[in-house]
Amino acid sequence: MKSLFFTEEHQQFRSMVGKFMEKEIAPFANQWEADRAIPREIWKKMAANELLGVPHPAAYGGSEADFFYSVVFLEELSRSGLAGFAAAVGVHVYIALAYIAEFGSEALKEAYLRPGIAGEKIGALAVTEPDAGSDVAAIRTRAKREGDIYIIDGAKTFITNGYYGDFIVVAAKTETAEGAGGISLFVVDRNAEGVSARKLDKVGWHCSDTAELSFDGVKTPAANLLGEENMGFYYIMQCFQLERLMAAITSVAGANFTLEHTLQYIKERQAFGRPLAKFQVLRHNLADLATEIEAARQLTYQAAYQYDQKEEAVKLCSMAKLYASEVAKKTTDVCLQCFGGYGYMDDYPISRFYRDARAGTIVGGTSEIMREIIAKMVIDQVSYSPPGQSKSAPQAEAPVRKSENQASPGAPAAEPPTAAATPISKAGNPTAREVVFDLPNRFRPDKAGDYRGTIHFIIKGEGGGEFTVEVGEGLCRVQEGLHGDAVCRVQTSAKTYLDIETGRTNPQVAFMMGRVKVTNVTELINFTRMFDKMPDT
Ligand SMILES: Cc1cc2nc3c(=O)[nH]c(=O)nc-3n(C[C@H](O)[C@H](O)[C@H](O)COP(=O)(O)OP(=O)(O)OC[C@H]3O[C@@H](n4cnc5c(N)ncnc54)[C@H](O)[C@@H]3O)c2cc1C
Repeated sequence: MKSLFFTEEHQQFRSMVGKFMEKEIAPFANQWEADRAIPREIWKKMAANELLGVPHPAAYGGSEADFFYSVVFLEELSRSGLAGFAAAVGVHVYIALAYIAEFGSEALKEAYLRPGIAGEKIGALAVTEPDAGSDVAAIRTRAKREGDIYIIDGAKTFITNGYYGDFIVVAAKTETAEGAGGISLFVVDRNAEGVSARKLDKVGWHCSDTAELSFDGVKTPAANLLGEENMGFYYIMQCFQLERLMAAITSVAGANFTLEHTLQYIKERQAFGRPLAKFQVLRHNLADLATEIEAARQLTYQAAYQYDQKEEAVKLCSMAKLYASEVAKKTTDVCLQCFGGYGYMDDYPISRFYRDARAGTIVGGTSEIMREIIAKMVIDQVSYSPPGQSKSAPQAEAPVRKSENQASPGAPAAEPPTAAATPISKAGNPTAREVVFDLPNRFRPDKAGDYRGTIHFIIKGEGGGEFTVEVGEGLCRVQEGLHGDAVCRVQTSAKTYLDIETGRTNPQVAFMMGRVKVTNVTELINFTRMFDKMPDT
């Protein structure tokens, strides 16, 4: 059948990966599950077949292939019928290595991306903690800078590849009072002094190792910081789309494999003198599943297409992850029923498919969190720019320009700021209006680079008002009233605005609680990065 998404070359790649999975993975599924481990050599074999660098730059040994090669790879990986293996490989290639490819320095790429693609070093991502899972901003692991190193202390849990892996991308707080804004990411060697791990027993994904990690005074070179300090939360949010897409693709492919496996069984197994496949109730159940899997597949392909085209994909990626993982969970339940008592026996692979699919609605953001994101977009009209590809995203390497608190030539005259030349401080108890007009004093043109955009602030209550803040050509200016087209509109109360600016309230919490309404979160995050915090005195 002709496909909208796959070319002849994609299908040839599918055939190659499928043969690899059939020969090198599927026959060993039971053994690896029993061993609770994936043999080390298999990573090397995958690398030798150019399977660990499909999306990554050719300069580091990757294939730099378009995203539909990754879709093919992940689908065939799941057709091995070994979801734990697919999870381990997926976390290594599309999460750990993806962070380094996206945010790592040249030195980090040489030290981890290149050997990662070669199957010599296996990576993990450690965000979740015993007291912070869905609420990423609440993590407590700390990284304190001391000269050329950071000292990391804290605990992580449920970390895939955290036990047998070689390096870990660790999320830690570099600024304790900053909430989401104070998180940074570090690459930490698994065998570094002070890192210890305990392997966790779990319901499924038996061959994949899941670890509880402890960081006790771990000395990490400052050069192992990924990207900029305090930007970790935004990097995690950015990479979530890929993680969710990966979860959707593997869920659909796993569900499809489970259905095919069950169809074969019901044609062979007899009851009341007929194959099970002749009983109408089973036929209808499986017809429903086939329809839902197809719907999940098409939704996932469309999400993948938007992601690949660098279009806004947050809504479709969240929908695809939610729907596909729920369909996969339902599929394994309905299919296990078709096997009767045999379905409940470990000897039958369907029991493994059932256990494995259960993880899908939890990992990479739970179904409830997906519904929260979708509800915000559908009901509250919140929108997001393409992750990391916002045309107006600030560029760290952009030339530094001097900040000027004046309108650019030809623009309407700006309301003169009420602030003095020195920035106003938290201690002076300014009004919200004064804080908005003081923004040019805290503006960082070096962080703004080529950014160009207008934000409308609608601040209710005493000391508030309506304001237009415009950034462009290395300048920031503020006007009274709402002018021009805004890339984002922010609506809040004067009290909440002041609480956020003075650090009394975490902006993410205020947003989640509905105290701040934002029409484009990504634009606001980009905008916020261009300003220093308010000084204490
Ligand atoms: C097999 C496995 C592998 C994993 N691998 C990794 C890994 O490699 N790296 C990593 O960092 N993490 C990993 N995780 C952790 C995973 O991402 C978290 O388990 C997940 O994000 C949920 O967090 P939590 O377990 O703390 O649950 P909680 O956040 O405590 O949530 C508990 C329940 O409350 C619901 N809930 C929470 N907040 C809300 C809300 N605002 N609205 C409605 N409902 C809500 C949740 O949906 C859930 O049902 C893994 C987990 C598993 C099971």
